[in-house]
Amino acid sequence: MKNIRTGEILCVGTELLVGQIVNTNASWLAGRLALLGISSYYQTVVGDNPERILEAMRQASKRSDLIVVTGGLGPTSDDLTMSIAAKLVNRDLVLHQPSRDAITEIFRRMGRVDSDITENNWKQAMMPEQAHIMPNGNGTAPGAILEYEVEGHPVTMILLPGPPSEMQPMFIEQAEPWLAEHIPTYFKHLFVRMIGIGESKAETLLIDLIRKQGNPTLAPYASEGEVMFRISQLFEKSLEASGIEQPDLTGELLKQVRNIIGDEHIYEVGNRKMPEVVRDLLIKNKKTISFAESCTAGLLSSALVDYAGASEVFRGSIIAYDNSVKENILSVPAGILNTEGAVSEACAIAMAQGCRNVMKSDLAVAVTGIAGPDGGTPDKPVGLVWLAVAREDGVETRKLTLSGNRGRIRHVSVLQALDLVRRQLL
Ligand code: ATP
Ligand code: MG
Repeated sequence: MKNIRTGEILCVGTELLVGQIVNTNASWLAGRLALLGISSYYQTVVGDNPERILEAMRQASKRSDLIVVTGGLGPTSDDLTMSIAAKLVNRDLVLHQPSRDAITEIFRRMGRVDSDITENNWKQAMMPEQAHIMPNGNGTAPGAILEYEVEGHPVTMILLPGPPSEMQPMFIEQAEPWLAEHIPTYFKHLFVRMIGIGESKAETLLIDLIRKQGNPTLAPYASEGEVMFRISQLFEKSLEASGIEQPDLTGELLKQVRNIIGDEHIYEVGNRKMPEVVRDLLIKNKKTISFAESCTAGLLSSALVDYAGASEVFRGSIIAYDNSVKENILSVPAGILNTEGAVSEACAIAMAQGCRNVMKSDLAVAVTGIAGPDGGTPDKPVGLVWLAVAREDGVETRKLTLSGNRGRIRHVSVLQALDLVRRQLL
């Protein structure tokens, strides 16, 4: 077994250097390396220039056990990465027949014949000798894993295509299993997703457990608009091989976290996002849902529909932005709009009930609020949002007083609305 403990990421592409595309590959790969327990110390971006790519690969090979390279594997003349990697390790590029066959097959499926395939397409089947080849299920350029030595130091280079839709599945399905065999340790991770509790509050409550920093560890995990903690336990393969037991302690730590935070605030231990949790609860409870959205204007519907299977539970939504739509389509009484206003508990209730009637769904959720930056008053400041969920047997409301800009207020309103539904279904 190799001893891959440190890694770095090298992204190739002039478009990255001039700011035409955002380097999402680097952040995505960095996250994956961290989960594998590989320490990352450097990230490099280099343009499509042969000398500089070679130099970047040389430097990285001196200081890291693993180099993950993305970009520049394609057919065009600026795609140089594979041939430069071969040069770095002093190996020839040789035809890899299965890759050539795969390219032919892709073109055949697109209705092309051999003569349509230009010489530069075949270039993608030219791979360094003694490389472990990773077929590309989502494009034409295969990836490769190269093993070599620099001054007695074993180095592994993983070469991946640039497009994230090709790179990510290749890394997860092929590179990670390969790496798993070459890393002396492995992790078990539990992602604990929370709602209804602020990040700093959660951290304060959990600080003793965080500070313990034993094995497993507990650490906050950045996640947009959500509070997430990660429980990670390290296992040593060498101990396992010599029959020394390493009991799984993650469940015990999770229990302690649950006790401190409160069960109702933990909406998921795993990988599902809030809309998926709600979708699954709706499916399980055989309930349909619809939305009446004012300030979120479709964002709530979109959050649910982002995930497959929404059609089983989602009826539709009414974007009731203007008061006339609230009144005419959702039957919100004019009296409520005139006296209490559109951003009020009474209006949210009327919207949810009206929506439930129109959509004939089991549940209906209304969102009405002031997303700002204008429109706030001393009574009703920017960030005031009323949520209501109507069921056959009643209605539940929630008042939010949110801070932040328009985008954040709308985003958090969506999460909170979904959480309100979640709590109805528990
Ligand atoms: P192709 O066969 O598509 O040419 P390639 O492996 O040669 O793939 P590049 O030519 O470097 O990759 O990049 C192709 C596209 O992949 C870019 O236009 C960009 O959309 C995306 N891409 C490349 N590198 C990155 C990156 N680091 N982060 C996000 N997207 C990237
Ligand atoms: Mg390319």
